[in-house]
Amino acid sequence: MDLKKLWEKALASIELQISKPNFLTWFRNSRLVEKNDGTGVVVIGVNNNFSKEWIQSKYNKIILEALQEIDGGINRIEYVVVGSGVGSEAIPPSIQKHSFSLPSQQKEIGGLAADPETNLHPRYSFKSFVVGSSNELAYAASVAISKDVGKKYNPFFVYGGTGLGKTHLIQATGNEIVKNYHGRIRVKYVPSEKFVNDVVWAIRSKRMDDVKNKYRTIDVLIIDDIQFIGGKERSEEEFFHTFNILYQNNKQIIISSDRPPSAIPTLEERLRSRFEGGMIADITYPDYEMKLAIIKNKIQEKGVELPDNVCHLIASKIQRNVREIEGIINKLHFYQEFKGAVIDTKAAEEIINSTLQQNVVAINPGQIIKVVGQFFEITQNEIINKSRRREVVLPRQITMFLLRDMLGMSYPDIGDKMGKRDHTTAIHSYEKILREVTKDKSLNQKIAIIKEMVYKNSPY
Ligand code: ADP
Ligand code: MG
Repeated sequence: MDLKKLWEKALASIELQISKPNFLTWFRNSRLVEKNDGTGVVVIGVNNNFSKEWIQSKYNKIILEALQEIDGGINRIEYVVVGSGVGSEAIPPSIQKHSFSLPSQQKEIGGLAADPETNLHPRYSFKSFVVGSSNELAYAASVAISKDVGKKYNPFFVYGGTGLGKTHLIQATGNEIVKNYHGRIRVKYVPSEKFVNDVVWAIRSKRMDDVKNKYRTIDVLIIDDIQFIGGKERSEEEFFHTFNILYQNNKQIIISSDRPPSAIPTLEERLRSRFEGGMIADITYPDYEMKLAIIKNKIQEKGVELPDNVCHLIASKIQRNVREIEGIINKLHFYQEFKGAVIDTKAAEEIINSTLQQNVVAINPGQIIKVVGQFFEITQNEIINKSRRREVVLPRQITMFLLRDMLGMSYPDIGDKMGKRDHTTAIHSYEKILREVTKDKSLNQKIAIIKEMVYKNSPY
């Protein structure tokens, strides 16, 4: 039986065992990419890392049983990320080149594409980066690095909340280095997710040496969102070795993260202390003046004309992150094009409010409760009601933890939301999970997946 047939049959049986939405979400683009009759290992290709982790942790057993029913020789499943979309169907990753390409949404921004060699996108430059008190240290370090690579701030670790300009800054640094050194040194920008994928493929296809060589011959390695490597042992190990070799050879390493090294619980101690031995800078929320400067900068870049009072309005309304600015400018621009006239304050205010409202609504308590329920396959009622069944106690505590962690809700509010519980229960749950998450890798992983899922449903 060919792989396609085998997988179709297995899917038919899996479909009967799980809910329709789950089936469509997780299996629609899956495929069987390899089957080794000697070892009994089959390789299933999925869309992205997120699906991979989810499917692996939740459906491995069902899938294995379904496959075994058809072919008793199968005894283990491996999962790989092969991407989605036409053309990529059933291409075993082992025969795909170890490309360093970016996820598709990052590949093309504003009609320009990232450089295939460096992965750097030309739109990110120092020139288009607005500097203010919230990012001046990170910026100054970046400029110094771009002039004198590998000497001063090494490794350079920059962290800050989502949408505050980390990717912009580290990519701009890479672009500046290429320019300053006239392309004589090799720069590579890699989202950490991509690094993990490469390592996983390499292990599977026994081509670790290729990957080792590829990364270790770089002069400047820029890794974005390192927090995603935390807890993935082989990748972390490999990253650590790569890191050491580059570091010993005075190569520059630039890393971004959404939190400081000390707050990535699964990061191995030795890696953490390496980061802490270099330069660490944070990026915080911009103040009003800076927001205004960014807005002016963006509209100029996009060739959009917006009245001054509308720019002020955006600056005063935006609270959360800089990325929101772009979305709003795009909407206002669209409105003006559509109407063929300059937008007035009232219409602008409506558009801004509705955009921001959507964003706030995107992560609310209900959303978190819903996702936790989906993850553990229990109902929202079961999370909230008073049952002490073991299967619901942990999800309930995780929910309370996330309400605090992601939304910063007060303990009494959390208690209230969770079926009128006492606030001490909320405190207890939060502290318990906080403690355990540093010790229990699998719990940490679960929480990371749940958070990603919550974020995934939000536009940010
Ligand atoms: P992060 O990687 O921290 O999540 P990004 O670098 O992707 O954030 O920034 C989100 C958006 O905001 C990008 O379009 C970026 O160009 C813009 N941005 C953020 N900070 C600044 C800044 N200081 N100056 C200009 N644009 C900025
Ligand atoms: Mg980023």
